[in-house]
Amino acid sequence: MSLCGLFIYEKRSIHGSSVAVKFAQSIRLLYTACANILLPRRCVVSVLFLFIDGVGLAPSGHDNPLSDAPTPTINALLNGALTIERVGASSRALLRPLDATMGVAGLPQSGTGQTALLAGINAAALHGRHQPHFPPVALRTMLVERSIFRRLTETGRRVAFANAFGVRYWEALAARRLRRSASVIAAEGAGVRFRSDYDVHTGSALTWDITGEMIRSANGSDVPVIAAHTAGERLARLTARYDLVFFETFLTDLAGHGRLAHLAAPDRPPPSTKEQIHMAMERVDGMIRGALEAMRPGDTLVLTSDHGNIESLSSPTHTRNPVPLLVTGPAASRFAHLVSIVQVADVIVAAAQEYAA
Ligand SMILES: [Zn+2]
Repeated sequence: MSLCGLFIYEKRSIHGSSVAVKFAQSIRLLYTACANILLPRRCVVSVLFLFIDGVGLAPSGHDNPLSDAPTPTINALLNGALTIERVGASSRALLRPLDATMGVAGLPQSGTGQTALLAGINAAALHGRHQPHFPPVALRTMLVERSIFRRLTETGRRVAFANAFGVRYWEALAARRLRRSASVIAAEGAGVRFRSDYDVHTGSALTWDITGEMIRSANGSDVPVIAAHTAGERLARLTARYDLVFFETFLTDLAGHGRLAHLAAPDRPPPSTKEQIHMAMERVDGMIRGALEAMRPGDTLVLTSDHGNIESLSSPTHTRNPVPLLVTGPAASRFAHLVSIVQVADVIVAAAQEYAA
């Protein structure tokens, strides 16, 4: 991170932080920046962590659009579609069903689910309920202190947050039109550099919609539109330089809520929810293909979600279905015993630390 980046970060510090906390954050950022510049290249094998919002694991059938989604890469890995019948059905990839309910009644939601994934804490039980969109305020400190980003950077590991955040995102935060997501809170708390549209132009970041198409049409951004396969290649290149690379996309959950209809061509009828889900999964699949083709043999790809949604057409909301944990690479066996989204963070940290010495 450049000094300019440090300055920008300080201007964006969480409101209400004490001087001591801000000083500690500055020291942490400075340490991370120096480590990134001065320490020799150490990571031999790395972890690529893909967070795909709102994807559950359910039986194959008419209600499950994942049964016949255009996902040739995932299907090749699993010997079939991303449905619960494929658990344990392939030697090329590990597929586990992870509980996303965390033992709490109601429908799992993103705020608590993403906090659980990134920090390895039972956010729903601690909060007393599932919370949508953003982490509960009372859990933010725990999220910062226990996040996979913090735990890895504290031990000198290199972490890349591959998503790009445009100026408008930071403006919306500053104007309080938006609150910080779990990933942004975790990255800020670890001093992980936030990538920008500039990084998308230079090929070292992705927009959250993977290809940039939606970002351009939604807010007039000038980010380039790239193929999903190219997006995956970018992630693989980053993975060669960092111990952990994290990327998140919300395309899938939006599709499950039927909110990608505007992406249809003007001369075509609006796509159905199933068609939107297939479009989103096709992009995810293309990204995975690009990543796997360009990753080093020793790298491990981990894909999971925070709650179910797109695997059930009959449910317009989230579901209580388990979510898929898809892992391919030499560290896959580390994940073989997992049963809950709460357990993912600890294994990610262990896998990313193992070879980076
Ligand atoms: Zn949702």
